[in-house]
Amino acid sequence: MSGGLTAPKASPERASELHESLQEIRQRVRQAIASSAPVDRQPTLVAVSKYKPASDVLACFELGQIDFGENYVQELVDKAEQLPTEIRWHFIGTLQSNKAKILASIPNLYAVQTVTSTKAATALNKALPAERTSPLNVLVQVNTSGEDNKSGLPPLPSDATEPDLVQLARHIIVQCPRLHLQGLMTIGSLAESLSSTEKPNEDFERLVRTRDLLQEALVQAGFSTDGDRWGEGGKLLLSMGMSSDFEAALNSGSDIVRVGTGIFGTRLQKEEIKSV
Ligand SMILES: *Cc1c(COP(=O)(O)O)cnc(C)c1O
Repeated sequence: MSGGLTAPKASPERASELHESLQEIRQRVRQAIASSAPVDRQPTLVAVSKYKPASDVLACFELGQIDFGENYVQELVDKAEQLPTEIRWHFIGTLQSNKAKILASIPNLYAVQTVTSTKAATALNKALPAERTSPLNVLVQVNTSGEDNKSGLPPLPSDATEPDLVQLARHIIVQCPRLHLQGLMTIGSLAESLSSTEKPNEDFERLVRTRDLLQEALVQAGFSTDGDRWGEGGKLLLSMGMSSDFEAALNSGSDIVRVGTGIFGTRLQKEEIKSV
């Protein structure tokens, strides 16, 4: 434990509820992989704990869950202080460059999945403390659905000679030695998510194509796949799929799924939280 603070324990009832929902989601992840290629992959399940108490996180951690996702910098900082340092925190909220410093100060911050600008990448790289032993994983967020209310760079292919996504990827690889370009992340449209049982989810297919094209562009630009600057095992990872569509995402080849309500139950809205 860090900071000397310790999260309170969940009640036995709450712990057993979380146990059940976590087991169910794990089971559904296994089934989805078993029915899609390649079968031997090991996707990461990120438990999205935003608005949920640290005691919930601790209960899941005690069941072997180590990857957790948070959307708000201050909430993440507060939780990280009270919870075991073995936890791998994934930041999945909107990233403002002026919050990079406080985010980078969390020793067990494992990944920032929502990088969308060279400015944010530079700020993160600069803010990471020298004592950090491993680079920080970053994923570039792609707006696959093109909706105004979603952030992210446009997917590939693009008409631009040097698309924003390729530029940002090059910037991270060349200019940000403390960052590791791990992959791409998307949310996708709700409509696609709801209609995804019959036909492939187009947003997920778009992220797959974008990843393939970006890899090609990087290799053509001379960035070798066997280096440690980007990807894992020579491939950029895909973070896609939430409670309502993680099985479809796994079928499309997702490596990282982010599940909140499916594990922790419905969330209060931010306004309600404040008045509690
Ligand atoms: C909240 C959130 C999730 C989890 O959503 P659920 O529908 O509760 O599973 C996943 N990804 C991002 C980026 C989120 O903001």
